[in-house]
Amino acid sequence: ELTHTGWQLENSYSRLPEVFYRKITVHPVKSPKLVIFNEALAEKLGLDPAELTAEDGVAILAGNQVPEGSTPIAQAYAGHQFGNFTMLGDGRALLIGEQLTPSGKRLDIQLKGSGRTPYSRGGDGRAALRPMLREYLISEAMHGLGIATTRSLSVVETGEMVRRETALPGAVMTRIADSHLRVGTFQYAARFGTKEDLKALADYALERHFPHVQDASHPYLALFQEVIKRQAALLAKWQLVGFIHGVMNTDNMAISGETIDYGPCAFMDSYDPKTVFSSIDVQGRYAYGNQPMIAGWNLARFAESLLPLLHDTPEEAVNMAQEELTGYIEQFQNHWLSGMRKKLGIFNEEAEDSTLVEALLNLMHQHDADYTNLFRALTFTKLQGSELFETPEFKEWHSSWQARLERQKESQEESQQLMRNNNPAIIPRNHRVEEALAAAEFQGDYSVLHRLLTVLADPYAHSAEQEAYTEPPEPTNGPYQTFCG
Ligand code: AMP
Ligand code: MG
Ligand code: MG
Repeated sequence: ELTHTGWQLENSYSRLPEVFYRKITVHPVKSPKLVIFNEALAEKLGLDPAELTAEDGVAILAGNQVPEGSTPIAQAYAGHQFGNFTMLGDGRALLIGEQLTPSGKRLDIQLKGSGRTPYSRGGDGRAALRPMLREYLISEAMHGLGIATTRSLSVVETGEMVRRETALPGAVMTRIADSHLRVGTFQYAARFGTKEDLKALADYALERHFPHVQDASHPYLALFQEVIKRQAALLAKWQLVGFIHGVMNTDNMAISGETIDYGPCAFMDSYDPKTVFSSIDVQGRYAYGNQPMIAGWNLARFAESLLPLLHDTPEEAVNMAQEELTGYIEQFQNHWLSGMRKKLGIFNEEAEDSTLVEALLNLMHQHDADYTNLFRALTFTKLQGSELFETPEFKEWHSSWQARLERQKESQEESQQLMRNNNPAIIPRNHRVEEALAAAEFQGDYSVLHRLLTVLADPYAHSAEQEAYTEPPEPTNGPYQTFCG
């Protein structure tokens, strides 16, 4: 039954075997205050923005109350963190339920920072304001860039401090996802559950995300193939915009193919495959250039979990999985190269295209060229602002690119349009992100954040308002660093 606010909740996850979750009670916070709210997303969910931002609604977004039809749970999962297998689970999150939206979608509504759960281990179950605002901002920016991602509905300040290295204002974020099934959920099932549990989870994933292959001759192989397909497409998109996730542990890889768990993520400024921002990634395991390979590694862990469902003979199951993993690399490369062609205004395919692309990237690397702005400069034929443009190597590259464009039938205007649609005017620049978060955290001034969200909502607009946000950061003494929330 429809409540006033529009909640249409189900809890299909709770029909999985009990090993997969724990029912939990809420831990109310002192004085919830809504600080940011995504009205357009609320409407997509079928929720009334006015109701949800009034006192009773905010109580729900703070985790002080549960909406009608909700049985809050914490989900169990495991995962490889920097290569080490660990039992994890929602240690500071709760799943309110799945909202059935007016357009017929089923979306998880999750609170992050909502208090301790049976999976909290030593943690307090809480989150600080700044990382929650950061996740809100970056996930919405990713959505604007056209990249599959969890979304952010709101952030509520709790009125309580959380203890980290210092005392910080606490907050609860509401996250919307196609689901919170992770590679780590399958690892958990394979390690701690029975084969029946694993099968139930795989069937659930098929029904929820890949109903079109439920009746395939081998549905579990099809499940693996579909997850590979989505990850290959996702990773290509990350690479094409210079997004660095920062903590690609297997528990942070979603089966749905959405980008999930924005902790120490950040966008690359000058092009360098070794770029790392996360303060804890000292080995550079999750560096920009490693991401596609790491996703393959994570998919191999997913495959290992699925082996019992792939074939009764273990060797046969391994062979099947390996064949698909080879396919992942090919699919990624195809997506990536086709994306790069678009960034260069190329419509058709020539065998030498990858050489052309690699040559450009090498030049960018050698000359510390800003990745986003370089492609913008090419798009608008404004070859200034980088020493790169003055070099003979670049001039040579540029003429081979021009020659390449002349060999296709499309006009210059069509090429430019293709480039405009595939080279963002702006990305969430690290210094702009910090500026917006600092104003919010220290002055309670959310206007900087709102302006940034507005220009990032359509990064392909190439509007006058976006111009001010295209500046790369001033050179600093130390590298930019990000931290886990
Ligand atoms: P993350 O780094 O956010 O992907 O989290 C990794 C694991 O640590 C997950 O199981 C989280 O639920 C858990 N975790 C992170 N922060 C806390 C916290 N403050 N309290 C309890 N568990 C936490
Ligand atoms: Mg087992
Ligand atoms: Mg995580």
